[in-house]
Formats: sequence, structure tokens, C-alpha cells
Amino acid sequence: MQHELPIYLDNNATTRCDDAVVQAMLPYFTQYFGNAASNSHAFGWSAAEAVKIAREQVAALIGAEPQEIVFTSGATESINLALKGAFEMYATKGNHIITVATEHKAVLDTCAHIERLGGQVTYLPVDNYGLIDLQQLEQAITGNTILIAVMYGNNETGVIQPIKEISAIAHQHNVLFFCDATQAVGKIPVSVMADGIDIMSFSAHKIYGPKGVGALYIRRRNPRVRLAAQIDGGGHERGFRSGTLNVPGIVGFGKACVICSDRLLQDAETLSTMRNRLENELLQLPGVYLNGHPHQRLPNVTNLAFEGIEGNTLLGNLNKEIALSGGSACTSASMEPSHVLQAMGVNEGLAHNSLRFSLGRHNTNEQIDYTISTVAKAVRYLRDGPKACNDVKRNKTIKHS
Ligand SMILES: *Cc1c(COP(=O)(O)O)cnc(C)c1O
Repeated sequence: MQHELPIYLDNNATTRCDDAVVQAMLPYFTQYFGNAASNSHAFGWSAAEAVKIAREQVAALIGAEPQEIVFTSGATESINLALKGAFEMYATKGNHIITVATEHKAVLDTCAHIERLGGQVTYLPVDNYGLIDLQQLEQAITGNTILIAVMYGNNETGVIQPIKEISAIAHQHNVLFFCDATQAVGKIPVSVMADGIDIMSFSAHKIYGPKGVGALYIRRRNPRVRLAAQIDGGGHERGFRSGTLNVPGIVGFGKACVICSDRLLQDAETLSTMRNRLENELLQLPGVYLNGHPHQRLPNVTNLAFEGIEGNTLLGNLNKEIALSGGSACTSASMEPSHVLQAMGVNEGLAHNSLRFSLGRHNTNEQIDYTISTVAKAVRYLRDGPKACNDVKRNKTIKHS
């Protein structure tokens, strides 16, 4: 059987729902359609029971208590609640937030909003690998600092920041630590206890769950974190986030978390093996470079620069066969090179030449073989023209099993 085209290698933008997730959700659209806040009848009770179970499942994946989980519409909303909610709640303590130049736009744009409200934000630089300097972090803390916001794994490069060290520094200085773990949860072991995280955002659709549902972990003890609600009305989610709960979405999120915890190590092993093969083969082409840290990173992603070839041109050449993105999905519509690569000191030319390959549970070895040969062919074609390409046989044949 020939595999379907295009091959999906954009799993950091979103993932296909696991079939078992869809199955778990379906009854909650029809048979159990109740409002989880309706406590006077069975329709509400069954919805509330399903939410309760899902909350336990989501909490279990990150080593939290169920009462520490607030359901939202996704990581973007969770990030807004964390940052704006802390800024508002801790106004009497200070107005200073420390974050990093390579954060997701949801963090950076929210920080810009907070600056317009009178907040002070420090944007830490990163080194060529995308890592922050812990000494610089510590030096940036002032008496006015209320929050340190550093992501777990980067969406564009997969680079993993030294989370335990960051949380230790935050707590020595009595500052809260917020972590956007949207790309790390479900891919590598994340534990809010072991990692010392006080507030943490993540999202269902990045881990084979549905779009439009996410969570914010809010620590209840040592320290008890308080946040000002950003969506008022009805007092759902212990007042942190009002609005009728997305019961089917939450059920799917719970199921996705259970599957991730069952498969975490196995998936990480399979994905990193495939990713490394893809990366090693492509790095053998002349003028191809890795963006990011070679080891300290998520198992499923590689970000490569193809010298002399516009990322958009390469994307256009490939996109009938391979679905991937240049930089991050959010910046790929604009002509600005990725802010992440720029912050890492990748020169503007190479930043424009970069593509992100992000693998997922549904990718196969055959798809990776096909990707290697298709990208290699496109690179040769774009560098040397059609004639050069005709002389070169594909270096791998695709098995049709
Ligand atoms: C996808 C992503 C987000 C936004 O998540 P949504 O659920 O789509 O709002 C935030 N941060 C990171 C690191 C992401 O990868």
C-alpha cells in the first residue's frame, strides 16, 4: 500500500487526535450532553463526574493534585491567565516579570500587553544553543520581581531549558516560577513537584487530544499561588476561569493524558530514533546545519537550515508531499525570520533558510525514508537546477508494503 501524501511532519503545530480520544469524547456530545455545573439532575451529574475523572487523569500526567488543575480553552489562554493573573494579584509585591526572548508568542505578546499596563519585563537572551544563562537569570531578579516565566521545551527547536535550576533560583528569591510546558508535557517526563513549577500551561491538541482545550496548573501548597481571574462570570473552576466547561474536550484531554503516560518512554524512544535518522541523513547534504542543542531537547523535533535556499521556496517545493513549517506556525505567515532563531544568533540569511520537522506518534519509518529522499531531491533541484537533479538517482527507494 502506498502511503498517503502529504506526510504530516508538523506535530509541534498540532497533532492528529488519537482514535481512542475521539471514541472517549463522542458520548459527551449526545448521550451525556449535560452542563457540568447543573447540580440538580443526572445530566449534570454525569458531566461533572466525567470532568472529575478527566481532572484526575490530567493531574496524574504532571504529578499534580486534581484541585490544582484549571481547564481553559488552550495554552494561549492558560498563559494569559498565568501572566496577567499574577501581575494583577501581586501588584502590591512588585511589577517585574522575567522571561526569555525565545518564548512562544503567547508569552511574549502577553508580556508586551503587561508592559503597556505599566509592568516591567526583562527578556533574557539565549546562547547559540538556545539556552539561558542561570547567572544572568539570578542577576535579573530585583525586589520588584514577582514572576519568572521560562518555557520547558521550545516549539521551534525543541531545546529544553534547565527547569530544576531555574525553579531553585526562583524559590531562593521568593519569586514564583511559571513554565509554559505545552511542548514538553506528554513527550518527556514533567513533574510539577520534582521540577519545582508553581504555575504551568499545557494544551490537549499538542498531545493527540482535541483543539480548544488546555489547562493551567496552579500550585496550592508551598507556596499557595493566587491569580486574578481574567474571565469572570459564574465562578467555574474555583473562580479562576468562568464559563461552561467544554465537557467532551475535557474528557478527550483526560484520555490523551492517560495514553501519553502509558506510552511516554516508548514514544520518546521511537520518535527520537526516527528524528535522529532524518536529521543525520539531511545533515550529510552540503550546507545543512542544525539549529538548537544537539542533546538537550525534545525527542520529536529537528530544526535545520539549508544554506542558500529560502525556507519558503523549499516549503513550496515540498508541500504537496510533506507538510511542515518554517520556523513556527505563528510567524510563518509573515516574512520576519523566526524570533527564536534570531535570538540564538542564527544569521538572518540562515534563519530564512530554516525548516522545522516535528514528528509524532502517527509517523512511520517509511514516511521518514520518503522525507529524506524527497527533501534531498528538492535541495539538489533548488541548488543545481532540474538538469543536475535528473542525473542523480534517489538515494533510497520507497517500500510499498
Ligand atoms: C502551541 C503552543 C502554545 C499555544 O497553545 P494553544 O493551545 O494552541 O493556544 C503555547 N506555547 C507553546 C510552546 C506552544 O507550542
